[in-house]
Amino acid sequence: MEYFEPKTVSEALSVLAKHGAETKVIAGGTDVMVDIKFKEEPGGLVNIKKIPGLSGIKENGAGMRIGALTTIRELETSALVREKVPVLWEASHQFASLQVRNTATIGGNICRASPSGETLAPLIVLEAKAKLAFADGEKTVPFTSFFQGPGKSSAGATGLLTEIEVPYPATGSKGVYLKHAVRGAMDIAMVGVAVLLTPDAGKNNVQDVRIGLGAVAPTPVRATKTEALLRGKPLTPALLKEAAAMAASESSPITDQRSSAENRRWIVEALTRRGLAQTWKAATGKEVA
Ligand SMILES: Cc1cc2nc3c(=O)[nH]c(=O)nc-3n(C[C@H](O)[C@H](O)[C@H](O)COP(=O)(O)OP(=O)(O)OC[C@H]3O[C@@H](n4cnc5c(N)ncnc54)[C@H](O)[C@@H]3O)c2cc1C
Repeated sequence: MEYFEPKTVSEALSVLAKHGAETKVIAGGTDVMVDIKFKEEPGGLVNIKKIPGLSGIKENGAGMRIGALTTIRELETSALVREKVPVLWEASHQFASLQVRNTATIGGNICRASPSGETLAPLIVLEAKAKLAFADGEKTVPFTSFFQGPGKSSAGATGLLTEIEVPYPATGSKGVYLKHAVRGAMDIAMVGVAVLLTPDAGKNNVQDVRIGLGAVAPTPVRATKTEALLRGKPLTPALLKEAAAMAASESSPITDQRSSAENRRWIVEALTRRGLAQTWKAATGKEVA
């Protein structure tokens, strides 16, 4: 196996332009090393960990920029992430174990493009964007269109994710990320649901709501019909029930070793109901009634 250790982004891009088809980028390695052991060995590895400037969390106007090499533990321990984008903080807090969080990067979680990747549902409800570098230039891609299927993303074989742009949610909005897994810890999500809800000025109606579903379709998905159903209305028990059932119908889960498709749909319904009720209460001070 060939091994490359570029010291700059442009050096990494030259290697990927030439060898991208047979090599793999490695960041924290918590997915790549498991694949090498249990699946297949790539022709080479491009270790990007020695490239300076690709990690860290910075405020940037009305949002933040997160370097692709920022670890999940750095997200979890960031006061800024916890205060400004708690939906992403919650995902990092529920991620694997401390040991894995210390090594795993947000860029690796995104570029792995696993439907169950913990940070993906929060990033699609935050309407965050990926900054990608290629040998022939850069592009910025919203996460709502970045994922193309399990293991497939706009980064392709020759792109490098350098940064994640996260706009801050509207003032007064509240977010939550709920994960259901077989084991309490050290387990990837059977279902993950992210909800970001903004009430109107009088705190009587849902002004805006975004619902992201993870591990229940080939890519993370927004439950857009459910979002449309909720906008402009007060969250009554009847609406909550209808919305949760609609979110389940917007998922298209598979049956695998973790769960049946039917059970996953039921969990989407339960977590959506819980996520909406929690964010409504946090944003308006009212119970659903
Ligand atoms: C025991 C265990 C528990 C786990 N639990 C969870 C969990 O609870 N939730 C969860 O979501 N995941 C979990 N994972 C999976 C894994 O830890 C995450 O997906 C992690 O975020 C991957 O990050 P990494 O830096 O280790 O990526 P790597 O393994 O280095 O890379 C992952 C993929 O992304 C590509 N890549 C990495 N960085 C870039 C970049 N900047 N640009 C382009 N491509 C890039 C690599 O080529 C590879 O395809 C677990 C893994 C293990 C081993």
